[in-house]
Amino acid sequence: MNIPELQKAILQLKKEKNAYILAHNYQLPEIQDVADHVADSLGMARHALTIKEDLVVVCGVYFMAETVSILNPEKRILIPDTNAGCPLANFAPIEEVRRWRQHYPDHTFVAYVNSSAKVKAEVDICCTSANAVDIVRRVEGDKIVFLPDKNLGRYVQKRVPEKEIVLWPGFCVVHETADIEAIVKTKELHPDALVVVHPECPEEIQEMADGICSTGQMIQFVENHPETKEFIIVTEWGMVYALQKRFPDRVFIEPSHRMECKNMKRITLAKLYDSLKEEKFVVKVDEQIRQKAYKSIEKMLA
Ligand code: SF4
Repeated sequence: MNIPELQKAILQLKKEKNAYILAHNYQLPEIQDVADHVADSLGMARHALTIKEDLVVVCGVYFMAETVSILNPEKRILIPDTNAGCPLANFAPIEEVRRWRQHYPDHTFVAYVNSSAKVKAEVDICCTSANAVDIVRRVEGDKIVFLPDKNLGRYVQKRVPEKEIVLWPGFCVVHETADIEAIVKTKELHPDALVVVHPECPEEIQEMADGICSTGQMIQFVENHPETKEFIIVTEWGMVYALQKRFPDRVFIEPSHRMECKNMKRITLAKLYDSLKEEKFVVKVDEQIRQKAYKSIEKMLA
């Protein structure tokens, strides 16, 4: 089947099975077009709580499907490809997190949602790139261990200088490749464009930005700049499509060096179709882990 045929078949199956498709902003354009809701990870987690359907297909990486499952244990949660992992989450294996907890017994552990369910169960609270500054500012205690993203952690550190923050040495393999020269060249070609950067990018890239935003905040940023016609978007390219679709009268430009998350792009229309048809692959978090992880996410959502 070609793309339009697959999309039609997916929408038909979705209707027959009373299923819901939840997609991340970094998904392929053809996946975003058949999704019921497209958002960043905080948006997905929040939205998951409002879903009525019993069958939910998560088009994103594995920890996102786990998070939806943690929040909706009574629902059947599917992911079209179980190999769609997040290399950033893999920087923080549970054994290492437990070792750090012993080493830093007086610290509050804050985990970015890009972490496994087991790690979420082990830490004190979760955060996303949209709310990391607020969460760290508000948690009890002046000593924090922030994991697993050092770039997001450094971004938080600068904005919450009153707290002592120990950074976990992980990073996103996609945002780490953001290229200064490519951004400078793109800016030369579009001098009036505002540069919008994801906080998972390294510090020197953040310093070039007119706005540092999670993907959800990028939407807000564009809304807050009604006079600006062009934006250079320094994040995974799926977001450029999501923004262009939402704001057809503006222009969203990728830096000349494309940033692509191979794991996000593992989810294809054909896999989504098979997932819905055969109701595979089910993501279910062990109940004991789920309950503990739920507390960390619940605190964040509160
Ligand atoms: S873009 Fe980075 S953080 Fe997001 S899923 Fe891909 S590797 Fe993980």
